[in-house]
Amino acid sequence: MELPLFFNQQVDLTVVGGGPAGFMAAITAAQSGVASVVLLESNAKTLEKVRISGGGRCNVTHACWDPGELVTNYPRGRLALMSAFSRFAAGDAVNWFEDKGLRLIAEQDGRIFPVSNSSSDVVTCLRNAAKASGVHFLTKQAVNRVDSMQKNRFFISSKGSKPFESKKVLLATGSHSSGRKIAQALGHSIVNPVPSLFSLKLDSFSLSICSGVALDNVKITLFTDDKSFQEIGRVLITHQGLSGPAVLRLTAFAARHLSKLNYKARLSVNWIDSNYDSARSQLNNFRYTSSRSRLVNSNPFSKFPKRFWLEIIKQAKVDPYIRWAELSSVNEKRLLNILISNSYNVFGKGPYGEEFVTAGGVRLDEINMTTMESLVVPGLYFAGELLDIDGITGGFNFQHCWSSGWLAGKAIANSLNPYLSEN
Ligand SMILES: Cc1cc2nc3c(=O)[nH]c(=O)nc-3n(C[C@H](O)[C@H](O)[C@H](O)COP(=O)(O)OP(=O)(O)OC[C@H]3O[C@@H](n4cnc5c(N)ncnc54)[C@H](O)[C@@H]3O)c2cc1C
Repeated sequence: MELPLFFNQQVDLTVVGGGPAGFMAAITAAQSGVASVVLLESNAKTLEKVRISGGGRCNVTHACWDPGELVTNYPRGRLALMSAFSRFAAGDAVNWFEDKGLRLIAEQDGRIFPVSNSSSDVVTCLRNAAKASGVHFLTKQAVNRVDSMQKNRFFISSKGSKPFESKKVLLATGSHSSGRKIAQALGHSIVNPVPSLFSLKLDSFSLSICSGVALDNVKITLFTDDKSFQEIGRVLITHQGLSGPAVLRLTAFAARHLSKLNYKARLSVNWIDSNYDSARSQLNNFRYTSSRSRLVNSNPFSKFPKRFWLEIIKQAKVDPYIRWAELSSVNEKRLLNILISNSYNVFGKGPYGEEFVTAGGVRLDEINMTTMESLVVPGLYFAGELLDIDGITGGFNFQHCWSSGWLAGKAIANSLNPYLSEN
């Protein structure tokens, strides 16, 4: 494909990758006075991940307004993001979209979505903002090489078109390997990419019959070779193991350890997030008030659906048809052990939730995190998932795309035209 005529001149900024990070950077640079901004996307359509995100609703960001608190949601990149979020955080992202006419709403758990609940409104908002600010975006342009000649002089080569010249380059290729290869060829180091945010497959998982049951306030502890990880929250029982927000958070923080162990580890589940003594007194109080009821028909934990409670009794090898008054101390102990330390062997990673990301990417100590400029190649910038940054579910992954893209766009404008761009 031949590139448009303006490619015969030197372009000010070339953005490689038409995802959220690339769009935010391109729009910000163009709006801050960069005259020619070109965005190249390898697919036939830009912003495809935004379109499929959040189950088609797009969880744009999270109602977490304090940068210090916001960074705690990033298993990787936490420290580096502090300076980025102190300049552009969740509140700035909300204002940015609302300024462009996209109305957003926060749900009770803090996740922020478009009021319309439609991810295509976010896509349209970004595309319209790019057009209005004069960004030229071209699809089916897979960039395969970037050569750095001298300060402010790069040559960009993409499949099937003539190389052209650009003063600045921003790489925002997400988890795609081609971006990492380009960065490596330019002298950057890569932290080995591994998946994050997945469910767990458990060996001999006797609760699969309860698939679909979701329980709140479950404490899960994962033991790997040298470290343990713990989360408390909502857990979803699946055919092969466990998923749900608490499990996805756990696997995000343990992503590197689990990958090293080929997804083999031990998991302990405390279904009632309680210690032995308080669980025992809860059981005894219940036994006192419901002594004549059969175990199967009455359970002390209101959050347990009947079929789940029955499986717990069976796992403890207790007869479900005995009355509470007949529960021996041996059986009580077995029941308590299953309730507070139900142990499983993890044997693999299951399917992803609604969202998944790659942990790893371009090393952060080779980047100036206030400008997103490379410390290896001046004039080269990075944004988004290509970096060794990833967040847990809840809108945090898009947030660091908005922040890093905005910072890069501002810094590029500032360096090309320090008098035009306002800070
Ligand atoms: C199913 C799913 C749902 C998700 N839902 C959410 C959510 O609701 N909230 C949230 O915060 N996060 C969500 N995420 C994570 C989020 O989508 C990513 O973190 C985010 O898209 C990363 O943005 P990016 O711009 O860095 O990369 P991408 O969105 O991956 O964009 C990079 C773009 O670069 C293009 N590209 C790659 N290589 C080249 C090349 N050589 N030349 C030209 N173009 C290239 C790619 O085709 C792509 O369009 C979800 C992820 C998935 C998979």
